Amino acid sequence: MSMLEGAKKQLEAAYKYADINSETWEKLQYPDKIVQVSLPMRHDDGTMRVYKAYRCQYNNVLGPYKGGIRFHPSVSREHVESLAFWMTFKNAVIDVPFGGAKGGITVDAPTLSNREIERLSKGYIDLLSDNIGPDIDIPAPDMYTNERVMSFMFHEYKKIRGGHPLGVVTGKPIAIGGIEGRPSATGYGGFYSMSFLLEKFGYKLKLPSKKRLKIAVQGFGQVGYWFAERLQREGYKVVALSNIYGAVYDEKGLNVTAARLHLDENDHKVWGQGTEITNEELLELDVDILVPAAIENVLTKDNADKIKAKIVLELANGPTTYEADQIMTDKGILIVPDILANSGGVTVSYFEWLQNRNAIRKNYEDVQKELKGMMEKATEEVMRRHLEYSVSPRTAAYMLALERIGEADAVYGNKDYFSIR
Ligand code: NAD
Repeated sequence: MSMLEGAKKQLEAAYKYADINSETWEKLQYPDKIVQVSLPMRHDDGTMRVYKAYRCQYNNVLGPYKGGIRFHPSVSREHVESLAFWMTFKNAVIDVPFGGAKGGITVDAPTLSNREIERLSKGYIDLLSDNIGPDIDIPAPDMYTNERVMSFMFHEYKKIRGGHPLGVVTGKPIAIGGIEGRPSATGYGGFYSMSFLLEKFGYKLKLPSKKRLKIAVQGFGQVGYWFAERLQREGYKVVALSNIYGAVYDEKGLNVTAARLHLDENDHKVWGQGTEITNEELLELDVDILVPAAIENVLTKDNADKIKAKIVLELANGPTTYEADQIMTDKGILIVPDILANSGGVTVSYFEWLQNRNAIRKNYEDVQKELKGMMEKATEEVMRRHLEYSVSPRTAAYMLALERIGEADAVYGNKDYFSIR
């Protein structure tokens, strides 16, 4: 089953509980629009190569399309469609006024120079500027894109459109309208969701006390690092960490900040502590909480039976396949779904967009307070449905999203809503 088929099946599980119109349901089966363009880019050595680039706008019932842009070899038409699909429901769960989108370029970004990344980023906007805009579709960083890429994209869009359209992309540097706390937003958002869940519902899971909880984090990029850093600061024990080159384990707990420094000094390949293990072994460790924060499809039907964690907090998008989701849920593992757990990034992007539109600046403390409040509210709403309907938190999250999208679509999309009776 493909990633997209799996995602749609997960949505289907929620349809029977959600009070939505069959016309809205039919619309949600298809993306509104997918654009594919061919992007010629001249390399530093003078050679030219054409890259495939995409933007998928899945649904905009709740507001302008919103979603990241990734530069990665796995980017394809179906891949961005799956990611845009998830964005649609994620934005609805966390209750930001956005629809769902995603884009990307099929490219191995680390092999390119800074100047090549600049040309690629600007070329993307040259080809797609008609499709984006502060009220139309607002890109943001994703895998292998960052605030520099957003800055290139903003400047290119400004050059084409004129004015000062700061709200066209989020995740910008602070000096040009970016917001305090964006780099840590997804990791910290995941932390707020997890700690609220432990505090309010932890008793149901029979977990050890905070200090004795064992947590493993896969992925040490923007999301995984900030999540682990926050865990350490709040007194939790991180027993395993990993990146693309491998993983490290110490039952007594790892020093997250020392790991960051050591990796930076050693080409991201040496952790400087603990025992080296593989990424596969990390997933199967005997821990209380497992946090996939790297890439898709790491929990599959081949390893689902071996997962020992009691909670899986999905900070990556789509880390659990449809089949693995069924196996792990049947085993009693509580999976906090990606469309809830990693929604902190888009939440702070929303604050940035608001700040740009209103020509104001939010401070770091306000960002954290509001992020925490929104993550806790969404977690509470998902968990309430999970308990009330005896469905998985994933189904509960899709139920909540469908209710919100369904209500908005009924107001302006349904043929019967305004009929005179
Ligand atoms: P990143 O590129 O900063 O970091 C990715 C990390 O995963 C790196 O440590 C990398 O070495 C590791 N990795 C890559 N391939 C791997 C593999 N095959 N096995 C193990 N580790 C691997 O990316 P990020 O921004 O941290 O995003 C991570 C995940 O979170 C992605 O699924 C992304 O879509 C999702 N996400 C990110 C944000 C955000 O704000 N950055 C928001 C929502 C969801």
